Amino acid sequence: MTTHWNYPDPALQDELRKIANAIVAPGKGILAADESVSTMGKRLADIGQENTDENRRKYRQLLFTTCPTIGDYISGVILFHETLYQKADDGTPFTELLKERGIIPGIKVDTGVVPLLGSNDECTTQGLDDLGKRCAQYKKDGCHFAKWRCVLKINEHTPSVQALIENANVLARYASICQANRIVPIVEPEILPDGNHNTERCQKVTETVLAYVYKALADHNVFLEGTLLKPNMVTPGQGAAARASPAEIAIATVTALQRRVPAAVPGITFLSGGQSEEEASVNLDAMNKLQVKKPWALTFSYGRALQASVLRAWQGKDENVAAAQQELLKRAKANSQASLGTYAAGSVEGKAGDAGLFVKNHAY
Ligand code: 13P
Repeated sequence: MTTHWNYPDPALQDELRKIANAIVAPGKGILAADESVSTMGKRLADIGQENTDENRRKYRQLLFTTCPTIGDYISGVILFHETLYQKADDGTPFTELLKERGIIPGIKVDTGVVPLLGSNDECTTQGLDDLGKRCAQYKKDGCHFAKWRCVLKINEHTPSVQALIENANVLARYASICQANRIVPIVEPEILPDGNHNTERCQKVTETVLAYVYKALADHNVFLEGTLLKPNMVTPGQGAAARASPAEIAIATVTALQRRVPAAVPGITFLSGGQSEEEASVNLDAMNKLQVKKPWALTFSYGRALQASVLRAWQGKDENVAAAQQELLKRAKANSQASLGTYAAGSVEGKAGDAGLFVKNHAY
């Protein structure tokens, strides 16, 4: 590592820091609504709806027209490209609806995972080629943060050094391009929950992955105060016989983060990774209840764990929109409380209840 590099100019530092801090303001977190067209198709199929542009638009309209109180709990929404340019029935752009609610629009900028040749079914994430141009346009169109998801897998022989190096590097290059375009990068190295491994193995893999990621971010001169981390929680694999309690998950996760995530990072916004809505709330709450050193905000950036009940309540019917919006409000409030360590387990009952949301080898 060289000892000669340049910090971003003070105005850029200030802008990035402000955006990142606003996203992780106390009691707030992110709604990840950036399902790709095919992933959204699966969600719609679950409720017997066709995967049309109009159905996707109507569903996102439902989310973004939820009463303004939603802005007390949700600071940012991650959008998919298509959604960024869609409008409500009355012609109001979705980005306007978000701004009216005090919610910052964000955008998924990776273009999906591809296999790594010679690896043991591992992958990297693509989308760097025209990323600078796309970020410049997205910033003009009102997006102030971005997401890029990398995927790592746990089995006897993985993650490999090839996957660790490649995914860390592509995340760092993505982060650098975002910052050059005044966009806060959410760095997401997701370790999939697939497998029979125990909590300790997940913790060690998480520590290793984060060590590679923060070395690469340093090598690329990324300004950490203007970034957010979106990690998995440390849990046993979905197929493991022994489950872990929220307190065990909390201590394993926070310990891994303490060891690997610099204090300059303003916030950590967890993915839900197939946990049920209630599990995702309770585990986040358990971390925030821990009386240990935590230099960053610990909050949520949930996709499935914020939307499962909404989709069940909606069923694609106009007459269910208000009820579905109530589900979103309830779950967002529960997670807001969890991010403050004040959620009472079981106090919010959703339509999806405790239903597991695990999807094998999950793509986004
Ligand atoms: P889940 O919360 O459904 O895991 O998704 C969050 C996300 O944005 C994954 O990239």
